[in-house]
Amino acid sequence: MPAYETVIGLEVHAQLNTESKLFCSCSTKFGNDPNENVCPVCSGMPGVLPVLNAKVVEYAAKLGLATGCTVQNKSVFERKNYFYPDLPKGYQISQLEQSICTNGVLTIEVDGEKKDVRINRIQMEEDAGKNIHSAAENASFVDLNRTSVPLLEIVSEPDIRSAKEAVAYLKTLRSILLYLGISDGNMEEGSFRCDANVSIRPFGQEEYGTRCELKNLNSFRFVERAIEYEVERQIDLIEDGEEVDQETRLYNPDKNATFTMRGKEEAHDYRYFPDPDLVPVQVDDAMIAEWQGQLPELPTEKRERFLDEFGLPQDDAELLTAELAVAEFFEAAAESYGGKPRKVANWMIGELLPYLNENGLTADRCKLSPEGLAGLVKLLDSGDISQKIGKKIFPELCETGADPAKLVKEKGLVQVSDTGALEAVVDEVITENPDEAEAFRGGKKKLMSFFMGQVMRKTKGQANPGVVTQLLQKKLS
Ligand code: ADP
Ligand code: MG
Ligand code: ZN
Repeated sequence: MPAYETVIGLEVHAQLNTESKLFCSCSTKFGNDPNENVCPVCSGMPGVLPVLNAKVVEYAAKLGLATGCTVQNKSVFERKNYFYPDLPKGYQISQLEQSICTNGVLTIEVDGEKKDVRINRIQMEEDAGKNIHSAAENASFVDLNRTSVPLLEIVSEPDIRSAKEAVAYLKTLRSILLYLGISDGNMEEGSFRCDANVSIRPFGQEEYGTRCELKNLNSFRFVERAIEYEVERQIDLIEDGEEVDQETRLYNPDKNATFTMRGKEEAHDYRYFPDPDLVPVQVDDAMIAEWQGQLPELPTEKRERFLDEFGLPQDDAELLTAELAVAEFFEAAAESYGGKPRKVANWMIGELLPYLNENGLTADRCKLSPEGLAGLVKLLDSGDISQKIGKKIFPELCETGADPAKLVKEKGLVQVSDTGALEAVVDEVITENPDEAEAFRGGKKKLMSFFMGQVMRKTKGQANPGVVTQLLQKKLS
C-alpha cells in the first residue's frame, strides 16, 4: 500500500447550449465573425441593465435535480471582481455564497466498484471573452462573442481519491449533461472544462494536505496524466522534507508536467459582493416539481434497463449508455432488428463505436442508420453474407448510408449457401486434386483447409464455409 493518499476536488465549467446569452439577447452561436454577437449589456457599457435568461435557471435546476442536489428557492448573483482585457465589465457575474443548487451526489464506478462523490454546489455564471494574440500582426485582439455565454460551475467535495476516479467523475457528469440536452459537452472546444485541486496526505491522516489547482486540462487523458504527475511531484517534495505550496499550476501536455502559474501571494482577492443590478433568483416548489417531472431517463437508469430488458453484459450496457446518441441508436437498431439485441450490441461495440471514434463522429451524425445496422445483422443471420464480408463493407455503409442488402447485391458479395451450386464446385476441386483427395481419405485430415481454400478461391470467398465443410466431409469419406 502506498504511504500517501491522493485527495482531489474538481471544479467543472459546462457551457450551456441556450440560444441567447445569460443576461442579454445576443446569440451564443459559435464561429461567427469576432464581436458579431455583442451588445451594450455584454460589452459592459455603462447605464445598461442585465436581464436574466430564464432557460439558464431551468437548466441549472435540472442538473441539480439529476445529481441529487437541493434546488434553492432563493439564490443570489455576485460580482467577482478582477481585471482582464476579455472581461469588459471588470467583473464576472457568478454565484458563490447562495448558489442555485447545493449538496448533491454523483455516483461513479471504477473497476466495478461504485462510489459516491459529493457535490458542494452548482452555480450559474457568465463566460469571459477571448484574447487572440497574433504574432503575424504583432498585436492582440479581443473577441467578445463568448462574453456572457451561460456556464454552470459544478464544484465537488474533495472526495475523489485517484486520477481514475477523477476521470470517471467527469465522464459521468458529462454524460448527464448530454442526457439532459443542456450542453454539448465538447472538451476540445472548451464547452466542458475542468480544474483539478490535488493534494496528498499520509494514509490514515484526517487533515487534508495543501492543495494545488491544475488548469488547462482539456481532455480526459490530460486530466489523468496531469493528476498523476502532480501526485508524484507532491510526494517527492514531502519525501525530500519540503513543503507543497498552495498555488495554481498549468499542465503542459507536450512536457507532461505541471508548472507554476501563480502562487498564493499572487492569488486574486475577488471582492465578491451581491450584484446590485440583479434581484435574487426565486424558484418556487411547483416549478421545481415540474422540472423534476421533465427529467429524461438518466444514464444509470438507462444502463439498468439495458441490463434487464436486453440482457446485455454490464460492460456492454455501460458502453452503450455513456452517450445518449449511442444509446438511442442502439435502441432503434434493436427494435428494427427484432431478434436478440446482443448481436446488434456486438456490432455497435465492435465496429460502429471504433468507426465513430476514428472519424470524430457522433452516432446521430453517422450516415449508417439504426435500420441499416439492423439490416446488416439480418443479412448475417440469413447467411447471405459472411462475418468477414460484413466487416469489409461496414466502413462503406457508414460513409454512404447505403442499404446493406442492396450493396451486397450490387457488389456481388452475396454468400453462396445453395448446396446444389456449391456441390458442383466441390466436385470440381476434388477432381482437380486427386492426390490430395486420396491422402485425405487415407487419414490426412489436415488437408481439409486446403480443400476449403480451393473452394473459396473458385467462389471468390463467397461460399458459405459451413455448407462447404459438410459437402467436403461427405464427398471425401
Ligand atoms: P476556494 O474557494 O479556495 O476555491 P473551495 O472550497 O471552493 O475553495 O474548493 C475548491 C475545490 O477544491 C473544491 O472542489 C474542493 O473540493 C477542492 N479542495 C478543497 N480542499 C482540497 C484539498 N485539500 N485537496 C484537494 N482538493 C481540495
Ligand atoms: Mg473555488
Ligand atoms: Zn449582448
